Amino acid sequence: MRKRAVVVNPPVFTPKPWSNVECGSMGVYTYASVLRNEGVNIDVFDFVSERRELDGWEDVRVERVAKVGNYESERLRKRIYYVGVNERRYIDYLKACKPPIVIISCLFTFYWQGAKLAYDLTREYSPESEIWFGGNYSTLCYEHALDNFPEARVSVSATTIPDRFVDINLGFYKVIPRMFPILTSVGCAFSCKWCAVPFLEGNKMQFKDPRKVVEDMETKYRLGVRSFRFIDSHLLADYENHFKVILEELVKKPWRAELHSYGGLNPLYVTQGMLELMAEAGFVRIQLPIETSDEKTLKDNNRPVSAGMWEAAIKKLKRINRFQVVSYVLAGLPGQTIEDIYRTINFVEGHGVTPVPLFFTPIPTTRYEDPRPLEDLHPYLFPFASDDMPALELERIQEKYYTGGVHVSEIIKGSKTVYESGPAIKDKS
Ligand code: SF4
Repeated sequence: MRKRAVVVNPPVFTPKPWSNVECGSMGVYTYASVLRNEGVNIDVFDFVSERRELDGWEDVRVERVAKVGNYESERLRKRIYYVGVNERRYIDYLKACKPPIVIISCLFTFYWQGAKLAYDLTREYSPESEIWFGGNYSTLCYEHALDNFPEARVSVSATTIPDRFVDINLGFYKVIPRMFPILTSVGCAFSCKWCAVPFLEGNKMQFKDPRKVVEDMETKYRLGVRSFRFIDSHLLADYENHFKVILEELVKKPWRAELHSYGGLNPLYVTQGMLELMAEAGFVRIQLPIETSDEKTLKDNNRPVSAGMWEAAIKKLKRINRFQVVSYVLAGLPGQTIEDIYRTINFVEGHGVTPVPLFFTPIPTTRYEDPRPLEDLHPYLFPFASDDMPALELERIQEKYYTGGVHVSEIIKGSKTVYESGPAIKDKS
């Protein structure tokens, strides 16, 4: 008999109930596709994203309140919401299907409690199931995962690197995602001190065959995907032999999808010819990260890109009147001041580019690893807020400049319980 298993994308506990699933999620579907190719009878239970296109999330509720960074000075707390389909649905699934193997994957370290909930429910309602556990969280926090998921088989990665290049099977999605993530390479040759990519993916680049990337995109396009987001950490590595080949193959196609880049476009490598080819292949939105215009911070963190390099790349982008250009601006780094952040925002806006704040979280294994409980290090709790970088100001930046995702109240029609996201609440005690 064929082996049977379910891969679970757990619910999340978050201070901001935004949906960030404008792009289909990938991790659990990658693993499910690998296992299906190996002949396993595999199913996916996705708490967070699979029902969104159908009827929105079923349940968003306040779970607890959490102190915001710099609490001692500002006395601010935020509500922490449960976001995902109601647990009852998962319990019913376990009782009906009795999966012999349950594979739980957790991406972000500050979301580990959602994975814990899925684990506890599995233990209680399907005690016979064997539980496997993986994802970036367990790779980065192996000991923490061993302590908190004692009966699970914890792995340091849900998928091996060659497996990450699998063509994801669209049949696992309840509806075809409107935007689909495309991973064409892993690794990054640099070692910025705030980034875990070198630890997670290695410094040596590994590539998927560029022609296979385009074949996969074509299949998905035929099945209804109309937009793709390239999510590589270092998309421009070995450009001539990799990304350029992808672009040239795409240009030859009679169809055009809407293409987006997602942070992996290093300004250092951007050339005019490359941008022209990107426009021809269908790119409409370019995310060109700057992080900060402060040269000292860039240098201290081993960042290979200067503000001048970013400006030079923007100049080239502006010669092509096609792209929407946005730039990540790092907000909340230890030692930053609110003036530093606004200086970068103004610098980016001054070039006619939309700044997108990227709120900082200290990732285990990086220079900023922090001993506080992982769940308190959610970027929207502003863990390094200070008198020079008040949480209230960071929140203002979030409200004003955040452009990703959609508020739940806009996507849940007729759901039973929707709480508005309020501002941080002043603690009177
Ligand atoms: S260049 Fe980007 S992916 Fe590479 S280490 Fe720096 S931040 Fe991480």
